Amino acid sequence: MAYSLTDLGFVDHVNNTIPGSSYIMALDSGTTSVRAIIVDEYDCIVAQASKPIHTMYPQPGWVEQDPTEILASQIAVMAEVQFKSGIHSDRIAALGLSNQRETCVVWDRDSGQPIYNAIGWQCRRTAPIVDELIAAGYEDVIRQKTGLKLDPYFSGTKIKWILDNVSGAREAAEAGELMFGTIDTWLIYNLTNGLVYATDMTNASRTMLYNIHTLEWDDELLDILGIPRSMLPEVKWSSDDYGHVSSEVMTHTPPITGVAGDQQASFFGHCCFNKGDTKNTYGTGCFLLMNTGDEVVHSNNGLISTIGIAEGGKVSYSLEGSIFHAGSVIQWLRDKLGIIKHAADTAAIAQSVEGNDDCYLVPAFSGLGAPWWDPMARGLITGLTAASDRATLVRAACESMAYQSYDVLRSMEADAGMKLAELSVDGAASRNDFIMQFQANLLGIPVVQTEAVETTALGAAYLAGLAVGYWEDRDELQADHALGKRFMPAGEEREIAHCLSGWHDAVARTRTVIQ
Ligand code: ADP
Repeated sequence: MAYSLTDLGFVDHVNNTIPGSSYIMALDSGTTSVRAIIVDEYDCIVAQASKPIHTMYPQPGWVEQDPTEILASQIAVMAEVQFKSGIHSDRIAALGLSNQRETCVVWDRDSGQPIYNAIGWQCRRTAPIVDELIAAGYEDVIRQKTGLKLDPYFSGTKIKWILDNVSGAREAAEAGELMFGTIDTWLIYNLTNGLVYATDMTNASRTMLYNIHTLEWDDELLDILGIPRSMLPEVKWSSDDYGHVSSEVMTHTPPITGVAGDQQASFFGHCCFNKGDTKNTYGTGCFLLMNTGDEVVHSNNGLISTIGIAEGGKVSYSLEGSIFHAGSVIQWLRDKLGIIKHAADTAAIAQSVEGNDDCYLVPAFSGLGAPWWDPMARGLITGLTAASDRATLVRAACESMAYQSYDVLRSMEADAGMKLAELSVDGAASRNDFIMQFQANLLGIPVVQTEAVETTALGAAYLAGLAVGYWEDRDELQADHALGKRFMPAGEEREIAHCLSGWHDAVARTRTVIQ
């Protein structure tokens, strides 16, 4: 049986008072690990638990995960975070969820059992399907309706692959016996014991089946990919009613009221509520989102247009750019070259030298992403001399994160016809003061850290809390939003222009595309 929040006395919707002892739980179902955090009304993360999850690579370029492992691990960390903190489900006012995007699960409506492993967002197995769709001339219609590049990254061709390759799947789908979901949908369905089959608009916008203008599943796109509409979940706002966690999972049954794809949850966690607001998450890769308001801006520079925020009865669109190798370059220095012990040492090492000695490292380890899009490009270090040493390489690696972000941000500005006012940053590598100062110098604008190293789960908590009146509105979130260090642009213009020119020269040398 599901309790209502008011019955439990967590939230008094009438006079909007909240007992000080209630909390929001947020889940972050990531690619390599799942997490659960507990947040208090001052936005402080008071407890967290996490668990790694496995990834399988059954063939080169194929990426799979076990949906039941994701579910079981997520439930395990929900229990662990309560146990660790002593804050149990009777004090959880609402639950928010952020998740790895695009990853695709198809399961049987009757048994609830997946008919195949989850196909991961990184999986390239559907490249031949994509080639066929491009040859058939569908690139434009897909771009117009979904804002996305026709690419194996998005869920649509992954669903088609399952229907075409798992024995009996297409017939079952046509008979209405199968359900598709991204990880949010899979988790919500199971956490609510099958009562709620839904996704949110930010996750839907990554499937290549969702029309981001009409905010509906699109019949023409479903036809193109041969996917029956009956296997698609209901699409809701990111801050909405997703039912209650079943009593089999939590003794008391908090409502699920916040759902967003990880990058959009992070965007919300950064309070990027207004047109022009932009965030960059510096992790293994970099993920950049710029708020373009109520306008879908189509990119001329290889960026994606997507739903950035779907809250408060209003959609804000965004431009999105991803950088494949950012913090991973530091891992490479540590694990492959063995020239550093800890990622955290790199700021001091980079700062120990005066300048970059005209040495540039282009980490095109798996091709170049936005704005160059050259899948065959490979990494390069330019400008080595006999005087180059460990610090030269470390500095070049650190600078590469800032240069790559610079290129994406300038593309965003060109596409949106707007100038960035400041950049909000999170992610482990955003704690590297050298990189952040260098980023501010390159861009000529302030770079501002969030206090929380990671805003993904926080954003999911915000979305959940808004729905139940835990926080009143976006203004309250903004007022409480805790910031870390602020890096003001410094450095000489001539010097910066020199660095950018050296970087772009190095990028040009990695390119395989004839210009
Ligand atoms: P993700 O969420 O993508 O797994 P994180 O935000 O935890 O990533 O960031 C991890 C990455 O950040 C690693 O690749 C690591 O090398 C890099 N990293 C961590 N700390 C620093 C630092 N102080 N300076 C530069 N890079 C760092």
